[in-house]
Amino acid sequence: GAERTKNVLILMSDTGGGHRASAEAIKDAFRIEYGDQYRVFIKDVWKEYTGWPLNDMERQYKFMVKHVQLWSLAFHSTSPKWIHSVYLAAIAAFYAKEVEAGLMEYNPDIIISVHPMMQHIPLWVLKWQKLHKKVVFATVITDLNTCHRTWFHPSVNRLYCPSEEVAKRALLDGLQESQIRVFGLPIRPSFVQAVFSKDDLRIELEMDLQLPAVLLMGGGEGMGPVKETAKALSEALFDTELERPAGQLIIICGRNETLASTLQSLEWKIPVNIRGFEKQMQKWMGACDCIITKAGPGTIAEALIRGLPIILNDYIPGQEKGNVPYVVENGAGVFTRNAKETARIVAAWFGEKEEELHRMSGNALKLAQPNAVFDIVRDVHELAWQRGTLASIPYVPTPSLSSLIC
Ligand code: UDP
Repeated sequence: GAERTKNVLILMSDTGGGHRASAEAIKDAFRIEYGDQYRVFIKDVWKEYTGWPLNDMERQYKFMVKHVQLWSLAFHSTSPKWIHSVYLAAIAAFYAKEVEAGLMEYNPDIIISVHPMMQHIPLWVLKWQKLHKKVVFATVITDLNTCHRTWFHPSVNRLYCPSEEVAKRALLDGLQESQIRVFGLPIRPSFVQAVFSKDDLRIELEMDLQLPAVLLMGGGEGMGPVKETAKALSEALFDTELERPAGQLIIICGRNETLASTLQSLEWKIPVNIRGFEKQMQKWMGACDCIITKAGPGTIAEALIRGLPIILNDYIPGQEKGNVPYVVENGAGVFTRNAKETARIVAAWFGEKEEELHRMSGNALKLAQPNAVFDIVRDVHELAWQRGTLASIPYVPTPSLSSLIC
């Protein structure tokens, strides 16, 4: 019979570019796989429905990752379960009504969290509303290895882990094997589907057709030693004997406008294209031969799909640290924080060590999991069906705040 459209609510926050990219990937995959069987909403519930500190996470996160010691402290000091549980419980009690109204407005059949802070409170709300048997709750972890423990909540119906390493941590934290699936990090389907030839892309993007190209970036916020690296590349990729460039450089600064304008004011010895926030990352990656980036999981997973050897030149302490061995030990790239060293490696890859570039490209492709996002939405779909025909969910406001705290 005709089924009513089901509502999927994806909870994210714009801390970095990765969570939004994952949320959009899941939304796109639902549309491609199931058309209008699902209506998908992407919401930053905290920002819209709560007060400080939750509505301010984006700014706080940006501040903290700029002052890495502070972020490291926050990451590690909130790791013990009792600390983050107490913290989140206090916040939950305080903002219960608003969060609840925020969630229930969408009448969700399925809630998917792609953020480490969005398990506890929504799951409590579902419990208060006696909806935890009706609404499917799934977490999609977007860190490849050393993720924060707030990602793990024993009451989820499903936990999607991007790697076996993360799945092991989840098991240690008390989740059952039956709750866990390992499919990979969800990447926007546009990355997987439309595969253009490098030549066509270079024409479209107005790049040099002959010179090998290196892509330099630093996540959605344009972080890491981008400027130093760009300068070093401009030197190292200029062939002084032949007096001509041996490569070209694409720099994607993301939302870091200061970085973009600083770079625009510099002079270069090689062709350099400086970009702001790009919506078609799959094209830029497809047009280049290798990538230099901080160890952001989204960028890494995308580069692997495109078979780009990766030079990791920075990582955010805590959640991104484990991404380094993930790339290096699997032979898909190297790690160095030294800008000159980075430039030397690229120059070698574009010269006498071309064979190493090809080998690493092959390893990257082996590690890639382009279908993860489809595996995830198919599994969520099955979960939803296992619950039987989902009844429309009535909204019952929770009686009083005091009854929640006790
Ligand atoms: N990104 C983008 N356009 C840009 C810069 C970045 O679409 O101009 C995307 C990038 O493709 C990736 C995400 O933003 O999907 C960055 O996520 P990552 O996990 O690498 O780092 P974060 O920004 O979350 O720290």
